[in-house]
Amino acid sequence: MKVPYVFNVQRFSVHDGPGLRTAVFFKGCPLRCPWCHNPESQVFGPEVMVSLGGRRQVVGRAYSVDELVEECSRDILFYDQSGGGVTFTGGEAMAQDLDYLLELATKLRAKGINVGVDTCGVAAQEAFAQMARQADFFLYDLKFIDAAKHREFTGASNALVLKNLELLASLGAVIYLRMILLEGLNADPDTIEATMLWLKNHHIELAGVNLLPYHRFGMDKFAKLGREATEFTTPGPDQLAEIIRQVARYYPGVTIGG
Ligand code: SF4
Repeated sequence: MKVPYVFNVQRFSVHDGPGLRTAVFFKGCPLRCPWCHNPESQVFGPEVMVSLGGRRQVVGRAYSVDELVEECSRDILFYDQSGGGVTFTGGEAMAQDLDYLLELATKLRAKGINVGVDTCGVAAQEAFAQMARQADFFLYDLKFIDAAKHREFTGASNALVLKNLELLASLGAVIYLRMILLEGLNADPDTIEATMLWLKNHHIELAGVNLLPYHRFGMDKFAKLGREATEFTTPGPDQLAEIIRQVARYYPGVTIGG
Protein backbone atom coordinates (compact mmCIF):
# COMPACT_ATOMS: atom_id res chain seq x y z
CA MET A 1 0.00 0.00 0.00
CA LYS A 2 1.41 3.42 -0.97
CA VAL A 3 0.97 5.90 1.86
CA PRO A 4 -0.23 9.25 0.49
CA TYR A 5 0.89 12.71 1.52
CA VAL A 6 -1.56 15.01 3.25
CA PHE A 7 -1.08 18.77 3.39
CA ASN A 8 -3.87 19.69 5.79
CA VAL A 9 -6.32 18.10 8.16
CA GLN A 10 -8.90 20.82 8.67
CA ARG A 11 -11.31 20.43 11.56
CA PHE A 12 -14.73 22.12 11.76
CA SER A 13 -15.04 22.65 8.02
CA VAL A 14 -18.48 23.74 6.79
CA HIS A 15 -17.58 23.77 3.07
CA ASP A 16 -16.93 20.11 2.37
CA GLY A 17 -20.33 18.47 2.63
CA PRO A 18 -23.17 18.38 5.16
CA GLY A 19 -22.65 19.34 8.82
CA LEU A 20 -19.37 19.96 10.60
CA ARG A 21 -16.62 17.98 8.95
CA THR A 22 -12.94 17.21 9.11
CA ALA A 23 -11.48 17.69 5.65
CA VAL A 24 -8.44 15.57 4.82
CA PHE A 25 -6.50 17.29 2.05
CA PHE A 26 -4.49 14.74 0.07
CA LYS A 27 -1.57 15.88 -2.00
CA GLY A 28 -1.51 15.16 -5.71
CA CYS A 29 -3.94 15.80 -8.55
CA PRO A 30 -4.05 14.72 -12.21
CA LEU A 31 -5.41 18.13 -13.24
CA ARG A 32 -3.75 21.55 -13.35
CA CYS A 33 -6.59 24.06 -13.02
CA PRO A 34 -5.11 27.57 -13.10
CA TRP A 35 -7.79 28.84 -10.65
CA CYS A 36 -6.93 26.12 -8.07
CA HIS A 37 -7.24 27.59 -4.59
CA ASN A 38 -4.89 24.91 -3.22
CA PRO A 39 -2.09 24.81 -5.81
CA GLU A 40 0.13 23.19 -3.18
CA SER A 41 -2.17 20.18 -3.61
CA GLN A 42 -1.30 19.54 -7.24
CA VAL A 43 2.09 17.80 -6.98
CA PHE A 44 2.28 14.35 -5.35
CA GLY A 45 4.82 14.52 -2.50
CA PRO A 46 6.17 17.28 -0.25
CA GLU A 47 6.94 20.77 -1.54
CA VAL A 48 8.40 23.97 -0.14
CA MET A 49 6.40 27.19 -0.08
CA VAL A 50 8.29 30.46 0.45
CA SER A 51 6.46 33.51 1.79
CA LEU A 52 7.21 37.07 0.64
CA GLY A 53 9.26 37.51 3.80
CA GLY A 54 11.36 34.45 2.89
CA ARG A 55 9.82 32.04 5.42
CA ARG A 56 10.04 28.48 4.12
CA GLN A 57 7.33 25.95 4.86
CA VAL A 58 7.32 22.30 3.86
CA VAL A 59 3.83 21.21 2.79
CA GLY A 60 2.77 17.58 2.80
CA ARG A 61 3.58 14.70 5.08
CA ALA A 62 2.73 11.02 5.06
CA TYR A 63 -0.02 9.86 7.41
CA SER A 64 -0.74 6.25 8.25
CA VAL A 65 -4.38 5.16 8.09
CA ASP A 66 -4.51 4.78 11.86
CA GLU A 67 -3.05 8.24 12.44
CA LEU A 68 -5.78 9.79 10.32
CA VAL A 69 -8.50 7.68 11.92
CA GLU A 70 -7.33 8.89 15.33
CA GLU A 71 -7.12 12.53 14.22
CA CYS A 72 -10.54 12.41 12.54
CA SER A 73 -12.16 10.71 15.53
CA ARG A 74 -11.53 13.69 17.80
CA ASP A 75 -14.75 15.41 16.70
CA ILE A 76 -17.19 12.50 16.63
CA LEU A 77 -19.47 14.35 19.03
CA PHE A 78 -19.70 17.32 16.65
CA TYR A 79 -20.27 15.05 13.64
CA ASP A 80 -23.17 13.38 15.46
CA GLN A 81 -24.75 16.68 16.49
CA SER A 82 -24.40 18.37 13.10
CA GLY A 83 -24.88 15.48 10.67
CA GLY A 84 -21.25 15.88 9.63
CA GLY A 85 -18.28 13.56 9.25
CA VAL A 86 -15.03 13.35 7.31
CA THR A 87 -14.40 14.40 3.72
CA PHE A 88 -11.48 13.17 1.64
CA THR A 89 -10.40 16.05 -0.57
CA GLY A 90 -7.22 17.56 -1.97
CA GLY A 91 -5.75 17.65 -4.44
CA GLU A 92 -7.56 14.63 -5.75
CA ALA A 93 -8.65 12.06 -3.18
CA MET A 94 -9.39 9.42 -5.83
CA ALA A 95 -5.85 9.69 -7.24
CA GLN A 96 -4.43 8.25 -4.00
CA ASP A 97 -3.73 4.59 -3.29
CA LEU A 98 -7.10 2.84 -3.48
CA ASP A 99 -6.36 0.25 -0.77
CA TYR A 100 -5.40 3.08 1.56
CA LEU A 101 -8.60 5.02 0.83
CA LEU A 102 -10.79 1.97 1.25
CA GLU A 103 -9.15 1.02 4.54
CA LEU A 104 -9.44 4.58 5.83
CA ALA A 105 -13.12 4.83 4.86
CA THR A 106 -13.89 1.40 6.32
CA LYS A 107 -12.24 2.20 9.65
CA LEU A 108 -13.98 5.58 9.91
CA ARG A 109 -17.38 4.11 9.09
CA ALA A 110 -16.82 1.32 11.62
CA LYS A 111 -16.77 4.12 14.19
CA GLY A 112 -20.05 5.47 12.82
CA ILE A 113 -18.37 8.37 10.98
CA ASN A 114 -19.96 9.54 7.74
CA VAL A 115 -17.44 9.65 4.85
CA GLY A 116 -17.57 11.95 1.83
CA VAL A 117 -15.25 12.06 -1.18
CA ASP A 118 -14.53 15.27 -3.07
CA THR A 119 -13.38 14.46 -6.60
CA CYS A 120 -12.63 15.95 -10.00
CA GLY A 121 -13.71 12.64 -11.55
CA VAL A 122 -10.35 11.76 -13.11
CA ALA A 123 -9.56 8.28 -11.75
CA ALA A 124 -10.07 4.69 -12.85
CA GLN A 125 -13.67 3.47 -13.16
CA GLU A 126 -12.85 0.51 -10.95
CA ALA A 127 -11.69 2.86 -8.20
CA PHE A 128 -15.02 4.70 -8.29
CA ALA A 129 -16.94 1.44 -8.36
CA GLN A 130 -15.16 0.26 -5.20
CA MET A 131 -15.27 3.61 -3.43
CA ALA A 132 -19.01 3.90 -4.08
CA ARG A 133 -19.46 1.01 -1.64
CA GLN A 134 -17.48 2.76 1.11
CA ALA A 135 -18.45 6.42 0.76
CA ASP A 136 -21.66 8.03 2.01
CA PHE A 137 -21.57 10.71 -0.67
CA PHE A 138 -19.47 12.29 -3.39
CA LEU A 139 -18.80 15.96 -4.05
CA TYR A 140 -18.35 15.70 -7.79
CA ASP A 141 -16.72 18.56 -9.72
CA LEU A 142 -17.85 19.24 -13.25
CA LYS A 143 -15.79 22.09 -14.60
CA PHE A 144 -16.62 22.13 -18.32
CA ILE A 145 -19.20 20.14 -20.25
CA ASP A 146 -17.23 21.03 -23.38
CA ALA A 147 -14.37 18.55 -23.87
CA ALA A 148 -12.03 20.98 -25.64
CA LYS A 149 -12.39 23.62 -22.93
CA HIS A 150 -11.91 21.01 -20.21
CA ARG A 151 -8.67 19.93 -21.85
CA GLU A 152 -7.50 23.49 -22.49
CA PHE A 153 -8.02 24.71 -18.92
CA THR A 154 -7.42 21.60 -16.78
CA GLY A 155 -4.96 19.66 -18.92
CA ALA A 156 -7.22 16.60 -19.37
CA SER A 157 -10.31 15.60 -21.30
CA ASN A 158 -13.65 15.39 -19.50
CA ALA A 159 -14.45 11.98 -21.05
CA LEU A 160 -13.53 10.08 -17.88
CA VAL A 161 -15.20 12.72 -15.70
CA LEU A 162 -18.51 12.17 -17.48
CA LYS A 163 -18.16 8.39 -17.58
CA ASN A 164 -17.44 8.19 -13.85
CA LEU A 165 -20.35 10.49 -13.09
CA GLU A 166 -22.64 8.17 -15.05
CA LEU A 167 -21.16 5.18 -13.25
CA LEU A 168 -21.72 6.65 -9.78
CA ALA A 169 -25.28 7.62 -10.69
CA SER A 170 -25.97 4.12 -12.01
CA LEU A 171 -24.71 2.69 -8.70
CA GLY A 172 -27.11 4.90 -6.77
CA ALA A 173 -24.36 6.97 -5.12
CA VAL A 174 -25.35 10.18 -3.34
CA ILE A 175 -23.86 12.92 -5.51
CA TYR A 176 -23.58 16.65 -4.92
CA LEU A 177 -22.48 18.20 -8.20
CA ARG A 178 -20.04 21.10 -7.86
CA MET A 179 -19.69 23.62 -10.64
CA ILE A 180 -17.00 26.27 -10.56
CA LEU A 181 -18.29 29.38 -12.33
CA LEU A 182 -15.84 31.40 -14.40
CA GLU A 183 -17.17 34.47 -16.16
CA GLY A 184 -16.60 34.26 -19.92
CA LEU A 185 -15.70 30.55 -19.79
CA ASN A 186 -18.53 28.43 -18.40
CA ALA A 187 -21.10 30.72 -16.77
CA ASP A 188 -23.11 31.75 -19.84
CA PRO A 189 -26.73 30.55 -20.27
CA ASP A 190 -25.92 28.27 -23.23
CA THR A 191 -23.20 26.43 -21.33
CA ILE A 192 -25.36 26.06 -18.22
CA GLU A 193 -28.22 24.76 -20.36
CA ALA A 194 -25.96 22.29 -22.18
CA THR A 195 -24.68 21.02 -18.83
CA MET A 196 -28.16 20.59 -17.38
CA LEU A 197 -29.39 18.82 -20.52
CA TRP A 198 -26.45 16.42 -20.47
CA LEU A 199 -27.18 15.56 -16.83
CA LYS A 200 -30.88 15.03 -17.45
CA ASN A 201 -30.35 13.06 -20.65
CA HIS A 202 -27.96 10.75 -18.78
CA HIS A 203 -30.40 10.29 -15.87
CA ILE A 204 -28.02 11.73 -13.28
CA GLU A 205 -29.86 11.95 -9.96
CA LEU A 206 -28.30 14.59 -7.72
CA ALA A 207 -28.65 15.26 -4.00
CA GLY A 208 -27.77 18.88 -4.75
CA VAL A 209 -25.91 21.27 -7.01
CA ASN A 210 -23.28 23.52 -5.41
CA LEU A 211 -22.33 26.53 -7.51
CA LEU A 212 -18.82 27.74 -6.74
CA PRO A 213 -18.20 31.24 -8.10
CA TYR A 214 -14.50 31.75 -8.81
CA HIS A 215 -12.47 33.45 -6.09
CA ARG A 216 -8.86 34.58 -5.96
CA PHE A 217 -7.89 32.80 -2.72
CA GLY A 218 -5.21 30.62 -4.29
CA MET A 219 -3.28 33.37 -6.07
CA ASP A 220 -0.80 34.15 -3.30
CA LYS A 221 -0.09 30.44 -2.92
CA PHE A 222 0.97 30.21 -6.57
CA ALA A 223 3.49 32.96 -5.83
CA LYS A 224 4.75 31.12 -2.74
CA LEU A 225 5.33 28.05 -4.91
CA GLY A 226 7.22 30.12 -7.48
CA ARG A 227 4.53 29.51 -10.11
CA GLU A 228 2.70 32.02 -12.23
CA ALA A 229 -0.92 32.70 -11.24
CA THR A 230 -3.75 33.46 -13.66
CA GLU A 231 -6.62 35.69 -12.64
CA PHE A 232 -10.18 34.90 -13.75
CA THR A 233 -13.43 36.81 -13.33
CA THR A 234 -16.30 36.00 -10.99
CA PRO A 235 -19.83 36.18 -12.42
CA GLY A 236 -21.77 39.17 -11.03
CA PRO A 237 -24.73 38.89 -8.61
CA ASP A 238 -27.40 39.24 -11.34
CA GLN A 239 -25.73 36.58 -13.46
CA LEU A 240 -25.47 34.26 -10.45
CA ALA A 241 -29.16 34.76 -9.65
CA GLU A 242 -30.01 33.86 -13.26
CA ILE A 243 -27.79 30.75 -13.12
CA ILE A 244 -29.54 29.63 -9.92
CA ARG A 245 -32.94 30.05 -11.62
CA GLN A 246 -31.74 28.15 -14.68
CA VAL A 247 -30.25 25.24 -12.70
CA ALA A 248 -33.26 25.07 -10.34
CA ARG A 249 -35.52 24.32 -13.31
CA TYR A 250 -33.66 20.98 -13.51
CA TYR A 251 -32.36 20.48 -9.95
CA PRO A 252 -34.19 22.40 -7.21
CA GLY A 253 -31.50 21.70 -4.58
CA VAL A 254 -29.10 24.32 -5.94
CA THR A 255 -27.00 26.48 -3.62
CA ILE A 256 -24.10 28.87 -3.83
CA GLY A 257 -21.22 27.07 -2.12
CA GLY A 258 -21.89 24.06 0.06
S1 SF4 B 1 -9.03 19.46 -9.73
FE1 SF4 B 1 -9.15 20.71 -7.88
S2 SF4 B 1 -7.24 20.29 -6.76
FE2 SF4 B 1 -6.95 19.55 -8.87
S3 SF4 B 1 -5.97 21.29 -9.90
FE3 SF4 B 1 -8.18 21.45 -10.25
S4 SF4 B 1 -8.94 22.79 -8.63
FE4 SF4 B 1 -6.87 22.09 -8.01
